[in-house]
Amino acid sequence: METQKFVIATGNPGKVREFRRILEPMGFEVYSLKDLNLRADVEETGSTFRENARLKAEAAMRLSGLAAIADDSGLCVDALDGAPGVYSARYGGEGLEDGGRTDLLLQNMRDVPEEKRTARFVSAICCVFPDGTALETEGVCEGAIGYEKRGENGFGYDPVFLVEGGSFAEISDAEKDRISHRGRALRAFEQKLRARKTEQ
Ligand code: IMP
Repeated sequence: METQKFVIATGNPGKVREFRRILEPMGFEVYSLKDLNLRADVEETGSTFRENARLKAEAAMRLSGLAAIADDSGLCVDALDGAPGVYSARYGGEGLEDGGRTDLLLQNMRDVPEEKRTARFVSAICCVFPDGTALETEGVCEGAIGYEKRGENGFGYDPVFLVEGGSFAEISDAEKDRISHRGRALRAFEQKLRARKTEQ
């Protein structure tokens, strides 16, 4: 596939790192909004990951004129009826950072027994092209919420999300990308993009 330029519609440095790690070996040229000196303040007014991904990708495409890929993602915890879900980045209010949000989650899960601590990360990817067409994919990674933070890698809720081999913050980048919601959604995106190219 010829090299294609994409802007990543996020200001989250953790997400930008993962997008680069996954998309560059696929042969894509990837820019962050920051690389292009752009800033998109998009209100995430959608009630689903998919709607919010679309809002972010459209805004970034309009600003940059490039094909724009957005991920709207979050952690859905069964014992909390799917929370924090689409509010993962705002859990506990705007004043908290990753560490505070993770502490709040651990606090809200303190009385939940091990077998009821199941959870999943979800990533909805939307790519909007300059001609207004879009490609959408989704990826899910099943796991469980731990009782304490473990590991130094990654971002967000990684230290409390347990998969085989440890928390998302303990396993290697390559292992996270192999099983993560974002890795799965981006590989599905690559497939759809290839199919779209052969149709054109
Ligand atoms: P949004 O997609 O910008 O609304 O933010 C998603 C939020 O979900 C992030 O700010 C993180 O808190 C969390 N999140 C999404 N993906 C991951 C991940 O791979 N690891 C840890 N936290 C994540």
